[in-house]
Amino acid sequence: MPELVFQPPEALLEIAGRLESAGCQAWAVGGAIRDAIHGLPRADWDLATDARPEEVRQLFPRTVPLGLEHGTVGVLGEDDAMYEVTTFRLDVETDGRHAVVEFATQIEDDLARRDFTINAIAWRPATDDLQDPYRGIEDLRAGILRAVGDPATRFAEDYLRVLRAFRFAGAYDLEIEPETLSALRVAAIHLDRLSAERVREELLKVLAAPIPSRSLRMYADHGTLMGWYAEIAGAASGPGWDDALDAIDVLAPHRKFLRVVRLLLCGGAGEEASASAEALLRRLKFSNLDIRRGTHLVHHYQPLVHPADGSATLREWLHTVGPEHSRDLFRLHFAAARASRSEDGQRALVYTWRRVHEELVGNAPVSVGQLSIDGSDLLALGLPRGPLIGLMLDELLAQVIESPERNDRETLLEAARELIALGGLDLLESGAEE
Ligand code: ATP
Ligand code: MG
Repeated sequence: MPELVFQPPEALLEIAGRLESAGCQAWAVGGAIRDAIHGLPRADWDLATDARPEEVRQLFPRTVPLGLEHGTVGVLGEDDAMYEVTTFRLDVETDGRHAVVEFATQIEDDLARRDFTINAIAWRPATDDLQDPYRGIEDLRAGILRAVGDPATRFAEDYLRVLRAFRFAGAYDLEIEPETLSALRVAAIHLDRLSAERVREELLKVLAAPIPSRSLRMYADHGTLMGWYAEIAGAASGPGWDDALDAIDVLAPHRKFLRVVRLLLCGGAGEEASASAEALLRRLKFSNLDIRRGTHLVHHYQPLVHPADGSATLREWLHTVGPEHSRDLFRLHFAAARASRSEDGQRALVYTWRRVHEELVGNAPVSVGQLSIDGSDLLALGLPRGPLIGLMLDELLAQVIESPERNDRETLLEAARELIALGGLDLLESGAEE
């Protein structure tokens, strides 16, 4: 086995050194060690220590109590980055959702409560000792994800580990070891006991990976979509699933929420689908802002403007979808075209987007708020307070979308006067009833 050389940030070594000088142990653990062995660069390094949280806080001038009940103190390093320093722990009681932990004095105890062998490796910078009691390095190199200890017991302690398994297996392209896999499939029916927040954060971590499709395919193949993701569970066995996964991979990893939206779109687009999307987003307790954005995008995903459309049609489209959502809709369509390797489709989208973009930067009026007059002007013309005002503004906007040069105060007031004089108000009203 080649010798492992870890290269943590200097600031982390300094923190570890200070703990060691105080007579404590400092071990780098978890994701940073796993990634280093896998040859991936890593920014956040975590430490495990036998020092109690109070001691850690006394040793360092700049600390943040990140989760004292879990024994985690954030220590600001010399590089101004935050390093998590967590006291060794031992689970004394678990119920599938949370654990009652006690502080421990040995790294071995701390590693025993970790979920997968690849996550249960520790390295002590002071002595260059490596602890790998469950042969996680071997598993990682062989491409295997394996639970620490008895898989069924470990999943029953915390069902989130089921979802974590798919995340790690997907992110590192690992095969799930057969016993771990069969325990997973049994445990999957208990996922409803988790909190929405943990399930949501887990999804967002999956979607932040370069290729989330691998994990998502495992979600679908191992019965994890029922329940939390009920609205898309059916689609996952349908013909659109592969396209959806390809499109998700194509969307940039930092656009996690657009990837969520693409996932929702396998339940279809349009008004009905947006109601299902809303139910799913609410269940996962996404913010109201995200729910509004997500349902709006699902509602308006189809159809997109066509390259041959006139500019008034482009503005009409912007008005319908809302300028603030137009970029996202193009991104989604572009991802679909790239995923299906349609070069013509991509070219047409780039062309159409340029034209839509011109309308956007030219500040073409596509919403009532952009009109040169507002409701108070219409009141001054003698229009009664009430729905007519909005209907009149909509009518004027329709004219302005057709001919933007009409967005001038005098022209619009004249048009309003004309409509009133012609008895056009009735027309507006009857139009509203349709
Ligand atoms: P990343 O930060 O890249 O998501 P990570 O491995 O650091 O990966 P964290 O969720 O930050 O994952 O947890 C840090 C470590 O704590 C894990 O490597 C694992 O050893 C342990 N751990 C975290 N959550 C659990 C859990 N639910 N059950 C058991 N061990 C866990
Ligand atoms: Mg981490």
